[in-house]
Amino acid sequence: MTSIIDTGSIGKARARKHIRSLTGYFPDVDETGKEKWPRGDEKVWKDGLRAADDDVPSITKSIVHHVQTSLSRQAYNLDDLGAYQATALSAKDNMLLNWNETQLAYTRKQPKRAYYLCIEYLMGRTFDNALLNLGLKDQYHEGVGKLGFNLEDLLTQERDAALGNGGLGRLAACYLDSSSSQELPVWGYSLRYKYGIFQQLIAPDGSQLEAPDPWLEHLNPFEIPRYDVQYEIRFYGQAERTADGRAVWSGGQEVLALAYDVMIPGYGTKNTNNLRLWESKPKRGFDLQSFNAGDYERAVEASNSAEAITSVLYPNDNTTFGKELRLKQQYFWTAASLADIIRRFKSLEKPFSALPDYAAIQLNDTHPTLAIPELMRILVDEEEVPWNSAWDIVTNTFFFTNHTVLPEALEKWPVPLFEHLLPRHLQIIYDINMTFLQSVEKKFPGDRERLSRMSLIEEGFPKQIRMAYLAIIGSRKVNGVAELHSQLLKATICKDFVEFYGISKFGNVTNGVTPRRWLDQCNPGLSALITETLKIPKSEWLKDLKKLEGLIKYADDPQFQKKWAAVKQTNKERLAQYVEATLGVKVNAKAMFDVQVKRLHEYKRQTLNIFGVIHRYFTLKAMTPEERKKANPRVVFFAGKAAPGYYIAKLVIRLIVNVARVVNADPDTKDYLEVYFLPDYSVSLAELLVPASNISQHISTAGTEASGTSNMKFCLNGGLLVGTVDGANIEIGEEIGEENVFFFGHLTEAVEDLRYQHTYHPVPIEQKCPALAHVLNEISAGKFGDGQTYEPLLNTVRHHDHYLLTEDFQSYIDALKLVDEAYLNQTTWLKKSIITCAKMGKFSSDRAILDYAEEYWSIEPLKVE
Ligand SMILES: *Cc1c(COP(=O)(O)O)cnc(C)c1O
Repeated sequence: MTSIIDTGSIGKARARKHIRSLTGYFPDVDETGKEKWPRGDEKVWKDGLRAADDDVPSITKSIVHHVQTSLSRQAYNLDDLGAYQATALSAKDNMLLNWNETQLAYTRKQPKRAYYLCIEYLMGRTFDNALLNLGLKDQYHEGVGKLGFNLEDLLTQERDAALGNGGLGRLAACYLDSSSSQELPVWGYSLRYKYGIFQQLIAPDGSQLEAPDPWLEHLNPFEIPRYDVQYEIRFYGQAERTADGRAVWSGGQEVLALAYDVMIPGYGTKNTNNLRLWESKPKRGFDLQSFNAGDYERAVEASNSAEAITSVLYPNDNTTFGKELRLKQQYFWTAASLADIIRRFKSLEKPFSALPDYAAIQLNDTHPTLAIPELMRILVDEEEVPWNSAWDIVTNTFFFTNHTVLPEALEKWPVPLFEHLLPRHLQIIYDINMTFLQSVEKKFPGDRERLSRMSLIEEGFPKQIRMAYLAIIGSRKVNGVAELHSQLLKATICKDFVEFYGISKFGNVTNGVTPRRWLDQCNPGLSALITETLKIPKSEWLKDLKKLEGLIKYADDPQFQKKWAAVKQTNKERLAQYVEATLGVKVNAKAMFDVQVKRLHEYKRQTLNIFGVIHRYFTLKAMTPEERKKANPRVVFFAGKAAPGYYIAKLVIRLIVNVARVVNADPDTKDYLEVYFLPDYSVSLAELLVPASNISQHISTAGTEASGTSNMKFCLNGGLLVGTVDGANIEIGEEIGEENVFFFGHLTEAVEDLRYQHTYHPVPIEQKCPALAHVLNEISAGKFGDGQTYEPLLNTVRHHDHYLLTEDFQSYIDALKLVDEAYLNQTTWLKKSIITCAKMGKFSSDRAILDYAEEYWSIEPLKVE
């Protein structure tokens, strides 16, 4: 515990004196000579919020002030947590000013705005980013130091805001950062889950355990509750059709949506956008009625069920599941967000036909698709806009991003469940479908199969609503998230729709990551080296990432290479320290660091990696000590969470942990191979891992990973990429040059045929890939703990092999061999690493958000002066 004063050993009087000397804070003295101490800093109160508390004395003053007022604590027994909270609140005051000015500017100038609806935001920590974006990091460092604390220690007190599963939620967070930094009027909307993604623990037998993530247990300095912003949201009840396609929806359950705002500061600008999160609350009137009737239990039940809506984030990534509560979450969130957007629009006093001129609403994946029938309901039932005009407005307001072509991830809702929860929305969807199918029939007369393929309703028991199709037909434009993925979309899910609407409705925006968090913050050493080398201010290249190309001319420079390597080494040692502190083991930081961190999923093929590790282990074991000395020492890191119900993915974790146990304990190979599974992968852990990698692995079966974004983070930090020809790996290769990427494996075009062969003309694995067969047999035989445990996992490879491990294993092993050879020549390796970083400019989320702004939303920057 760091504290200003340890009151156990020093008296209070001395503590006060010490604080006085540090902060220059002199309390008043009363008649008796007693100090009025501590009472909060009156000057700060009198001044109110000031635009720039940016000098060190004001900063320390404002921190002490928050200790005494917001926290109601005393400075002399403050721990790191309290110091963090007070310091964060002080930074928040500065952000709040900019946020207010930004919102005021938006209200005054009435620009067209974009709204980004995403059911997940994987924000990570905010404090460091806030200081960077405010340009106050150095001042806070000094100010906090004067109070006897270390800023780095305080930063780690913050819990990650982990309101997301993986890439989808992290992308949303990067986009908000870029929207503020690029001065675009964008707001995010999501849910304020009381529990974020579960905390992952590893049991003694190696399997994953899940514990809740009570991230709101302590004060959250970065959110603002808006008790003045509330909406009533209805579920269940009856929908009675009236005239002109309208209906009255009544009865059922009503709950309240309460807004919490999270400020999103831009880098090097005042612009501070907003992320509005909804919390569910029981509606008071409803509650009281039950209390009055003496039905206490029912009242409690109602409040429980209202609050349950935003209690927990579903821990599934790239899979659907038909839970009623999930559908409730989706409706609650989209209805509250739309009510908010419409209220704001109505204050402009324009006709509804002008809505698309003032609002673009991005549906990030199908989770917010209910916004389409909900806007129809508002316009038609409540605002009495004729159906056709309403549909016109809707289809010019929404935009849809698809994130996957995996069939198990495409959302469908059973009609009976949907009808029970949202009876009016089902009517609207049926009406939309009827009109839509009539127009298809008109364009392709008599093509009944086409009609049933394109219908919003999939026949069967029960019938299901195809949410992706609803999103496609209700949106102005549709996009995928990388070139290959967008092509695949047009050839598969969207094929009929391309034929119906024409190609121009379907585009691409390749994903990006924010270089603020994913370079400057996570890798300060590299950032400083880049600034020093480019000889331009950091603020210039961090906002225009193509400027990194200026590094190319130093790629061969031995002096620069040496500095580049030293930064990497420091980052590896930082990671090694973390591993020692958390797992209690010493890592060989001189070895190559090989990293695969991402959600555990069969399509991402952590299996291929761990089988490769086992193969490497056997190969090393078979060598003589002399031969081994020529091997390239390697430390392999894994991290990632599996959905709690995803049995096979959880088995993979168990296998990795047990392989690590055997391999790390083997004195023959210890110097050449170490394996670690780091528990509880998060944004903050990624910030440690990414800068420390020599290579990272992105090895999905071709055609299954829509884009990936961690591939971008690693390359931006000079880690080389081992990958399949999939998702954004392809575009990374195009940008940095294929000679700098270790590509392997079959191409997307081959996958379908190979799967067909595996199903109908299977070849025994011993014949197809003896090296892999040997690995599987050894696992079966109990080399890494009870072989029986792993049979279900091994059988996914032995039979069907849907993800084509047997097809890609040999070429994977060959690619890793090339990596070893390349690493031995550090001069050429460093050159590859430098060029990789230098050519990553395209993958800034600034570029991506500007693509959306120009080609989709038609919004323009509005600089807050
Ligand atoms: C970037 C990121 C992801 C996405 O990783 P992929 O390898 O692209 O799937 C997932 N989780 C966290 C914490 C991240 O930072």
